[in-house]
Amino acid sequence: MIFHNPSGAPELACEQCGCRWFDRMHGTCYECGSQVPAEAIAEFDRALQAFWAKNAGQEGSAAVPGAKPPADA
Ligand SMILES: [Zn+2]
Repeated sequence: MIFHNPSGAPELACEQCGCRWFDRMHGTCYECGSQVPAEAIAEFDRALQAFWAKNAGQEGSAAVPGAKPPADA
């Protein structure tokens, strides 16, 4: 499932436990270990790119706190 944080950026969340921490290397949830479907990741990528495209059109608002997902460890 996809959430949107207060700044409008999409966040991918686990279908099973609702947490937002994923092991992107393995495509699994950190919290409950459930597999993240490829469609969910693809959908999230589209939402993220739409968000970036929207923000790119607004001058002076390049830096949105919290908009970036945590870096891969
Ligand atoms: Zn989970």
